[in-house]
Amino acid sequence: MATLFISDLHLSPERPEKLALFYHLLSGPARDAEALYILGDLFEAWIGDDDTTSPHHQVVEALAHYAATGKPLYLMHGNRDFLMGPEFEARSGGTLLPDPFILDLYGEKTLLMHGDTLCTQDIDYQAFRKQVRDPRWIQGFVQKPLAERAAIASNLREGSRAATRQKEAVIMNVDPATVSQTMIDYGVRQLIHGHTHRPGIHLLEIQGQSARRIVLGDWYDRDLVLVYDAQEPRLVTAAALTNF
Ligand code: MN
Repeated sequence: MATLFISDLHLSPERPEKLALFYHLLSGPARDAEALYILGDLFEAWIGDDDTTSPHHQVVEALAHYAATGKPLYLMHGNRDFLMGPEFEARSGGTLLPDPFILDLYGEKTLLMHGDTLCTQDIDYQAFRKQVRDPRWIQGFVQKPLAERAAIASNLREGSRAATRQKEAVIMNVDPATVSQTMIDYGVRQLIHGHTHRPGIHLLEIQGQSARRIVLGDWYDRDLVLVYDAQEPRLVTAAALTNF
């Protein structure tokens, strides 16, 4: 048996092939898994639980079908879909986890995060994050009509894309010192996160002990799924995932 981890699918109407791949995962390989964890940015944008436009409604239905099979389904907020709330949770049948979350993964105490809070060198992003995660900002935002929220979110994404083009790659990656300190703070030697779109399995040394940071991949290009079982953890493309 294996536990599967994914993140950064960025599902949207613009990439129907990724939607199809996700439905394939839910109706096929993920049913053979012990549990499925989605560590943020499942959606390209989630502007409130009342947004049932395509493909949000269909994705929630597919999640609910999966959860109805009895398989545990866990989701974490990403920076694009942090407004997934109680209604989403109820309709999807999934459980929203706080970020960070400590998981006992077959005996290995493991920290799960989306990953954006590890990018502490990106001062502008962290300031923006603080602003939009403020409960007062959120309350003001969700009270606006859907169309207005969609326009604001689209502008924010465009602004983020423009800023990203000007930032050095190192700034948008995790800060190594923040990674170490976070793992020390939570007393873990294994961290799984997404967000950076730089998939890989990194061996680290923290306070003289070997540690591991597993970075999930995005579904813009690589469509990776982390398969975690009794063997070495591995990143496999969703299309190639048949059994494990
Ligand atoms: Mn992200």
